[in-house]
Amino acid sequence: MDRTAERIRLLPRYLFAEIDKKIKAAQEKGIDVIKLGIGDPDSPTPGYIIKRMQEEVARPSNHTYPPDEGVKEFREAVAAYYLRRHGVELDPGKEVVPLIGSKEGIAHISFCFTNPGDVNLVPDPGYPVYGIGTLFAGGIPQEMPLLKEKGFLPDLRSIPVEAASRAKLLFLNYPNNPTGAVATKEFFEEAVSFAREYNLIICHDAAYNEIAFDDYRPVSILEIDGAKEVAIEFNSLSKTFNMTGWRIGYAVGNSLAVEALYRFKTNVDSGLFKAIQYAGVEAFTNPLMEPFLEDLRKLYRDRRDVVVKALQDAGWDIDPPKATFYIWAPVPQGYTSQEFVTYILEKTGVVVTPGRGFGKNGEGYFRIALTVGEERLKEAMERIKGAIRFG
Ligand SMILES: *Cc1c(COP(=O)(O)O)cnc(C)c1O
Repeated sequence: MDRTAERIRLLPRYLFAEIDKKIKAAQEKGIDVIKLGIGDPDSPTPGYIIKRMQEEVARPSNHTYPPDEGVKEFREAVAAYYLRRHGVELDPGKEVVPLIGSKEGIAHISFCFTNPGDVNLVPDPGYPVYGIGTLFAGGIPQEMPLLKEKGFLPDLRSIPVEAASRAKLLFLNYPNNPTGAVATKEFFEEAVSFAREYNLIICHDAAYNEIAFDDYRPVSILEIDGAKEVAIEFNSLSKTFNMTGWRIGYAVGNSLAVEALYRFKTNVDSGLFKAIQYAGVEAFTNPLMEPFLEDLRKLYRDRRDVVVKALQDAGWDIDPPKATFYIWAPVPQGYTSQEFVTYILEKTGVVVTPGRGFGKNGEGYFRIALTVGEERLKEAMERIKGAIRFG
């Protein structure tokens, strides 16, 4: 008898289980599998951050429980970064909270605001945690379709008034995973006034705010006048500094939401290892930050250009994304996204992610993660070009 709670049984079946089996089978046959599935940076954390971590980990004063609201220097470093990067003033005492990776905060924010039966508005396709956190809190995720003809931005005015009126949280994510889309300031202005009108809290996931190309620099929703009254922004060191395994992120903005999150955390996880928070201070304050980021953007930009060009040569009609390390491309006619991904895995040994894994509206697309070296990417694209033409 399955004695697990309903919230565990509610979890969607692991979509990639079948693909994982096929990867294993291919590898057993001796096929050289190239994995472009997972959005986990392949480059190391910068040396200047590692060095600081080595020093901090040896300090006994860092071995005790961290303060509930986080290490002061880390909150100050985040506030200083938001001021210089986005022109946004934050009170480090009330408007910044460290997180054990932004996923942790994104999953927990529903527990702070969503009562059983409340609606949260979530993007589809989207990062699955918005909807799962909603379900865990007993809420109802209401999907907002992200469609190509709307630039993969939700059409807020087409959300049924009944759903918008019952909604508590509005999740947004730009630059966007999985579509690579970006949002303009005008879109964020519209979102802020929509949130005001329906008394919603906007949860903006800005994990890719530093991964952008060709003079494009993503905006923070907090740059909008009055945004702090309705918005909390989640951000992370994971993608910015190649630190996914370290588990360090933060939320900034609306002080009520920030305070609710850290009160929740006080009762659940007691915060982040102090040494990691000091390494985070180093990440943002060391003068090597900007040169490091310039190199990182160049790395992903070159990889993006390799993939976009190869897909275009094979008949795909796609534009290079302005941000993120993903390419979101339509599957050729006659395949579902799952079928297409299986087909190219079996035919070429290249693994990509089926769009359906990110929601109903992800059907018809697949996602390529630019998280392997340029030579391997070229090899993968040669194989795909040899196996399939779009159209
Ligand atoms: C990678 C990613 C994150 C970051 O997660 P962490 O928990 O900070 O590692 C958040 N949101 C999206 C959309 C992501 O792709």
